[in-house]
Amino acid sequence: MLVLKFGGTSVGNAQAFAQVADIIQAARQRDPNTVVVTSAMAGVTNQLIAAAQAAAKGDTDTYQRVREELLAKHQMVVGQLITDGAERAAVGQLLEERLQGFERLCRAIAILGELTARGLDVVAGMGERLAAPLLAAVLRARGLAAEAVDAAELIVTDDNFGAADPIMDASRQKTRARLLPMLEQGILPVCTGYVGATADGIPTTLGRGGSDYSAAILGACLDADEVQIWTDVDGILTADPRVVPQARTLPELSYGEAAELAYFGAKVLHPKTILPAIEQGIPLRVLNTFNPTHPGTRVVKDARPTDGTVKAISAIKGLCMVAVEGRGMIGVPGIAARTFAAVARQKVNVLMISQASSEQSICFVIPQSDRAKVIPALEAEFQTELTRRLIDRVTALEDIVIVAVVGFGMRGTPGIAAKVFGALGDARINVIAVAQGSSEANISLVVAQRDSDEAVRRIHAAFQLDRLPDPAVAATAS
Ligand code: ADP
Ligand code: ASP
Ligand code: MG
Repeated sequence: MLVLKFGGTSVGNAQAFAQVADIIQAARQRDPNTVVVTSAMAGVTNQLIAAAQAAAKGDTDTYQRVREELLAKHQMVVGQLITDGAERAAVGQLLEERLQGFERLCRAIAILGELTARGLDVVAGMGERLAAPLLAAVLRARGLAAEAVDAAELIVTDDNFGAADPIMDASRQKTRARLLPMLEQGILPVCTGYVGATADGIPTTLGRGGSDYSAAILGACLDADEVQIWTDVDGILTADPRVVPQARTLPELSYGEAAELAYFGAKVLHPKTILPAIEQGIPLRVLNTFNPTHPGTRVVKDARPTDGTVKAISAIKGLCMVAVEGRGMIGVPGIAARTFAAVARQKVNVLMISQASSEQSICFVIPQSDRAKVIPALEAEFQTELTRRLIDRVTALEDIVIVAVVGFGMRGTPGIAAKVFGALGDARINVIAVAQGSSEANISLVVAQRDSDEAVRRIHAAFQLDRLPDPAVAATAS
């Protein structure tokens, strides 16, 4: 069984839809048990969220405009790819109804003057609820028996709105009960990415970019042979090609390496995508919708070793580094534990920790958007120590990034860190903090956001990652 996921650009316009339909048809010839997962059309989720946020501020124009724009955008695909009159009318009506639902919701948000996380998830997930029936209709127009399925019927999640996590046992049961009979009848399920629902049926989303995660969850629930992530680049590259134009496709990565890259900002995979794949040992493949013959990247349990030690570099932006400092901290037990307990109570994710051996400071990196919660929480926690001057200050350094240098081959290879620092030193880029994960598959550096792109380019060049042979060329040669 195959699970194929298509990202926003892959369903960005009528031409892309046609391309996706070709890929699905070809996959289905290889394996009739194919399940499709689709994202919203490119840009739609952003528009939906912006409209809901504007509505909460009393703006009643934006959502009406967005409703019209989204109707036109989806109708354009209908107009170009669906010729049958009855099918056109049916899809058109469904799109209209869903968008009317969106308008009603936004009106309610405007009247209340408030947007809850729960309400936002209903609106944010609507892009997928437009795209899936549209793609199913496009496939039917090609003679395929395809049917849209709302993943709220498949993926059961907790109620952490905006970044919900699946409850795997319940999801497995529901997914199999709903999709396996469809497959047995020769029907191709086209599922919405990004969304799920709580056990009580309240709609949730898995977090921005979450359709990759949806595909991996469904793949695990169905014991799929492979999960294919179809996107707009030739697989996972040695760096973001928007930052390093010379970046090359990596033919193979281990789950651990891909997880590190995704966690540290490689947008090509949602950071949680690897988890369900690891649990079931399902290989992931990242492929290019617009270059479908390229072999892309395989993400597997044990990747074959490559010549290079460092495989890829990623960077995660929009962070801030918090420091709890003071000479009086030395020898006072429990400061670190209390620091992280206070941060955890705010439900804030710590991306990196570094503590100097002198114990005079504890530094850690969090998303900049959480700064306003974390600093007051720490000041409250250490009120007594601050008054007694055991702790001098709690500070936040803004506009920083973590650059992650990733590759399992780094393990036990001396000189990697020296080479990284050398490359940055030559460019006069200041390294603010460093951490090496216990897996030794990753060295993480904190640098100023303004230095981020140059740091990635310099490290990429230092390890000559642009010299990697292209897997597409290697495949034709062998
Ligand atoms: P989709 O809409 O298909 O989910 P995304 O925009 O979420 O696509 O992810 C694909 C993008 O990820 C690419 O266009 C690329 O700019 C970015 N990216 C960042 N780091 C990497 C990397 N190491 N390899 C490939 N793409 C990357
Ligand atoms: N449409 C959602 C987003 O833009 C999910 C996804 O594209 O993966 O975040
Ligand atoms: Mg994505």
